[in-house]
Amino acid sequence: MKAVVCSREHGLRFSEAPTPEAGPGEVVVRVADTGVCGSDISFIKKGFFQEGYILGHEISAVVHQVGGGVEGWEPGQRVMMRPTFCGQCSFCAGGKPHFCSEYRRLLGVRDLPGGFAEYVRVLPGMLIPIPEGVDSRNAALAEVFASSYHGLNCSGAKGGSALVMGGGPIGLAMVALLKLHGFGPILLSEPIKAKRELGLGFGADAAVDPLKDNLGYTVFDLTDNLGFDAIFECSGIAGNVPLALDFIAVRGRITVVSVISEEARIPMRRLTFTEAKITASISNTHQENRQILDWMAQGKLDARPMISDLISLEELPAVFNQRILAGKSVKTLLKIGPEF
Ligand SMILES: [Zn+2]
Ligand SMILES: [Zn+2]
Repeated sequence: MKAVVCSREHGLRFSEAPTPEAGPGEVVVRVADTGVCGSDISFIKKGFFQEGYILGHEISAVVHQVGGGVEGWEPGQRVMMRPTFCGQCSFCAGGKPHFCSEYRRLLGVRDLPGGFAEYVRVLPGMLIPIPEGVDSRNAALAEVFASSYHGLNCSGAKGGSALVMGGGPIGLAMVALLKLHGFGPILLSEPIKAKRELGLGFGADAAVDPLKDNLGYTVFDLTDNLGFDAIFECSGIAGNVPLALDFIAVRGRITVVSVISEEARIPMRRLTFTEAKITASISNTHQENRQILDWMAQGKLDARPMISDLISLEELPAVFNQRILAGKSVKTLLKIGPEF
């Protein structure tokens, strides 16, 4: 089969790879579309992969082959999948597969190669059926929205004013979800103009450039000097955590949805005198993915406007170097097999 593999020497490389076979207890799917995730990009940049592995976990597909002993799945079913699921550990059994202690991933990092390929071998527990009315492009990006939805659920915020820091796919999905949940006003802070414009399309009431506009003025203008009830850090910049405390309302909730590896300085006085809550979120659950797919089927969410680069597998290595690494792509989606 065709695939894009990771190589320390050559970066991403288009190549032939063995087509997977479904062993007992496994399913092989034929990939329709795969999104390139921020985590894929950072794994490649940091060299966090085994030589020759295949990344990619934002996948829409059709069941191709069902291994022995697998019940409930048959060839032709349309599916998406959520990574990190072993189905056995206490976290998976308890509905929290994002904390799976086996940490099985469709990433090629541990065991299962991912979706920058025509076929993918998965565990049936990773599969989620795609409802009528959701196409393969939306379905491939449902997991992006599920990650933002998990962030919203972790925040505990129920409404009011909201600031989203960072207008990449996670931030844009967060804007759409906040709009759907009746939050307002919603402000998006994002330095790239094209992403700010997308944010307004996804439901932000205003969008500012944090490097040029005075964010403080906008914040206090929009919120009658009170600050925001909820702030979502979606850019991966550690300095945004203390900055968020400057703009949070009393008893507001700050949620770090992006993955930040550096330390963040917390101005304790500000935390104390606002009684704000700071929390973080990682990944998402099956149930959250199902909910996103249902909202997509009902026409309440549409991920497709964030697709900036719709390309073939062959084009990925060049697009990665010229557009993704340069920050010019909002969301790259690979068209791999027949779309639906
Ligand atoms: Zn992802
Ligand atoms: Zn598990």
